[in-house]
Amino acid sequence: MNNGAFKMETFHNEQVLSYLPGNDESKNLKKELEIMKNTKIEIPVIVGGKEYKTGKLKKCIIPHDKNHVLGYYHEATEELVELAIKTALEAKNKWESIHSEQRIAIFKRASYLAGSSWKAKLNASTMLCQSKTFFQAEIDASVELSDFYNINAYWLSQIYDHIPVQTIDSMNRIDYRPLEGFVYAVSPFNFTSIGANLVGAPAIAGNTVVWKPASSSVYSSYVVYKLLEEAGMPPGIISFIPGNANMISNVIINHKELNAINFTGSTKVFNNMWKEVGKNVDIYRNYPKLVGETGGKNFVLAHNSTDIKHLVANLIRGAFEYQGQKCSATSRAYIPSSIWPEVKELLVTDTKTIKMGDVEDFNTFMGAVIDKNAYDKIKSYIDYAKNSQDAEIICGGGCDDSIGYFIEPTIIVTKDIKFKTMMEEIFGPVLSIYIYEDGDYNNLLETLENISEYGLTGSIFAKDRYIIKEAEQKLVYSAGNFYINDKTTGAVVGQSPFGGSRNSGTNDKVGTMGNMLKWLNPRSIKESYNRISSYLYGNFHEDVDK
Ligand code: NAD
Repeated sequence: MNNGAFKMETFHNEQVLSYLPGNDESKNLKKELEIMKNTKIEIPVIVGGKEYKTGKLKKCIIPHDKNHVLGYYHEATEELVELAIKTALEAKNKWESIHSEQRIAIFKRASYLAGSSWKAKLNASTMLCQSKTFFQAEIDASVELSDFYNINAYWLSQIYDHIPVQTIDSMNRIDYRPLEGFVYAVSPFNFTSIGANLVGAPAIAGNTVVWKPASSSVYSSYVVYKLLEEAGMPPGIISFIPGNANMISNVIINHKELNAINFTGSTKVFNNMWKEVGKNVDIYRNYPKLVGETGGKNFVLAHNSTDIKHLVANLIRGAFEYQGQKCSATSRAYIPSSIWPEVKELLVTDTKTIKMGDVEDFNTFMGAVIDKNAYDKIKSYIDYAKNSQDAEIICGGGCDDSIGYFIEPTIIVTKDIKFKTMMEEIFGPVLSIYIYEDGDYNNLLETLENISEYGLTGSIFAKDRYIIKEAEQKLVYSAGNFYINDKTTGAVVGQSPFGGSRNSGTNDKVGTMGNMLKWLNPRSIKESYNRISSYLYGNFHEDVDK
């Protein structure tokens, strides 16, 4: 048995590749897109490493070409959900008892594969299944996934390295146990890497996980599952159970051994899960940890000292990349009236040049929104603005679902600071703008800190250093990721730990030591060297002054 100490010393971000025409990564990706489009996949439920075909089939489609069926997935039955829990509990003992470097090695290999031979598969499935451009797929499915698996290994290793204070007469240790029961991971459609991390972070720490992927991204989630399998993940550590969310959650949240929920998705769904856990609090063996990263209504505040071209380019990237379906997407902006005419001119002119369409064309900037539900919801907000006296659509507004779920990049200007589209999460390519009088800047700053129920991301654009400093100080709880002269999106693992508070989540900052601590249940162990012969302490003695 080798007792040598093991520690991950460093973390480096994975490189984002260029995909220049005709280079290797471009060729590999195009080849993989062809293969995936022309092969009908059948995705099983996977429990304990075994594949189950329940016959309850659902389609995996391409959002920008909605009649193209990539394949089908089998929905989990109630019995399979119960089996997944049982399997997770049975597999846990062996998994938690192997030394940490064995688990870390699996995730380090998965990270390595994601950056090499599995890169094209991860990116192609994300492009087709979630309608991401090659660039958006690269920074998500391959690079961010790889970064998450690397950084989790690094932080876990740092945590294990921490030992308590020693004394002359005792040895003090911490045993970093995983959680006692199982973890339920529920992932959103919009980032392949988020699903990978929701299961990966607990699993690397020795937990076993039951994973319910989002129904519209089952395909790319399945590729992640197969990547982990290839990397050496033993059967039973992660069960893959796509299917009806209500049924699956109902079985899981009613289980005594549920020890954590690792969720990313909408505020409403997380709130409901929290309520259900609350109702069941008496049945659990441990208090389940609830980790949830939820909705956002992310803002840009422009000051009149800003660089206008820089502001406009960042508004467009922040609001319209990935069709505004990033949780951090810019969805409201506050622009001073003195610069508005110039901002408007440039913003509308540039937005009109955005190329929307099939993401297989590498010149496309925007694909389609994820599915019919999202399309209908986003369109209803646009229609609301069209019919309102208080708003004007200055760009876009067109929706067309004849081929795919396409929604034009849309800009709404309103005089009402609390206009519906300024307040509610739309999760689509819709930017709402409020024009303020320059003299009202200070009042606006006060208002912005509290106007939204969310607190995910926000930016100040200004050249004036005192303005920047004041905004940073006054907008303290309005965003968990606050940017200065940068767009509200694009947080990089390790550089801008991500997450927000208020209705945006529990702010457990993925990819940090704090997040890894969520998946551990530390046990302090004290061993005494001293032996005693009496219950009396040495400082108990007869009172000689009596
Ligand atoms: P969603 O809430 O509709 O779905 C998320 C997951 O919850 C899916 O797997 C879904 O099937 C599942 N779900 C739905 N109903 C459920 C139920 N009753 N019980 C248990 N699970 C249930 O979200 P989405 O549309 O997939 O993703 C978009 C949302 O996610 C947006 O609100 C976005 O802001 C948020 N998001 C937040 C972050 C963040 O870091 N804060 C990151 C990505 C996405």
